Amino acid sequence: MKPPPAFARRVLDWFDQHGRKDLPWQQSIDPYRVWVSEIMLQQTQVRTVIPYFQRFMEAFPRVQDLADAPVDEVLHLWTGLGYYARARNLHRAAREVCDHHGGRFPANVDQLSELPGIGRSTAGAIVSIAFRQRASILDGNVKRVLARYHAVPGWPGQTAVHRELWQLAEQHTPTRRVADYSQAMMDLGATLCTRSRPRCEDCPLSVDCAARRADSQADYPGKKPRKTMPVRATIFLIVRDAGGSVLLQRRPPSGIWGGLWCFPQLDEQAAAGNWCLDRFGLMPTELAPAEPFRHTFSHYHLDIQPLLATLPGEPQAVMAGDDQLWYNVAQPSQIGLAAPVARLLASL
Ligand code: SF4
Repeated sequence: MKPPPAFARRVLDWFDQHGRKDLPWQQSIDPYRVWVSEIMLQQTQVRTVIPYFQRFMEAFPRVQDLADAPVDEVLHLWTGLGYYARARNLHRAAREVCDHHGGRFPANVDQLSELPGIGRSTAGAIVSIAFRQRASILDGNVKRVLARYHAVPGWPGQTAVHRELWQLAEQHTPTRRVADYSQAMMDLGATLCTRSRPRCEDCPLSVDCAARRADSQADYPGKKPRKTMPVRATIFLIVRDAGGSVLLQRRPPSGIWGGLWCFPQLDEQAAAGNWCLDRFGLMPTELAPAEPFRHTFSHYHLDIQPLLATLPGEPQAVMAGDDQLWYNVAQPSQIGLAAPVARLLASL
């Protein structure tokens, strides 16, 4: 059986027939326009980017205009696109291009990669599309196509997987028509080899795509491994006086819930009685556990066991200090509360 034509040829043939060629940054191609479009397109869809790109180019038609602009103006034109570090880096890189490269973008991947916000793939896109020199790209779309076509297992954030995908990207990059090839690969990933429900039936690579053959497109690229988060436990001691006020303590300024108001925390329920006796000279008349729940921080889960302790009197007199207060649930004070504390107070 005749082998299928080379990967790049099929991609280019497809691009000739179906690729997008009328996007604003595909007109009057120069390194500056390619660069701005590539940065805007990171994590953002083409149709969202188009009006931003047009406004940006009207305001800053040349890299020098961008370098001369106040950063606030750049951020203003970026408003709504998100990931504002991109705009700040764009501005810094424009200044570097003007200050250190005489206002001209360097035509090689290594030098471009030294500019703020330009990674290897963006540099590859500028070199291949604007300078028409052989350079590879590996943005999110291209990673997906290559991971599926070659059934590369693993999450591309892992060094070994990333390296393998770059090797494949380099291997497939043709020596001719590199500008069209880069554009074609990005298009193919954005329009056919989409994250969910790829249109394999229309894809020029389907005949020998490993993921398609195994009907396992959804497995590639591999997902980021879930971190197993540690679980910690605490007891929220909800001390109520006879008038119904609840004791709150201010958290230290740093650490979780820094500076916010919280219930006293204990390590074990058995310590609650003596804790009250020590502070107020009163033993609680009742200690009642409430429904436990989990609060999740970015780096751990906290299993919280609320424990209601009812005091037989009103012990305000023995309280002192700015870092604790009796919180009147009926007339709440305007203070910053840790989220689970606010929830529990609302339920009292
Ligand atoms: S055949 Fe399907 S899974 Fe394979 S590259 Fe094409 S669109 Fe992606």
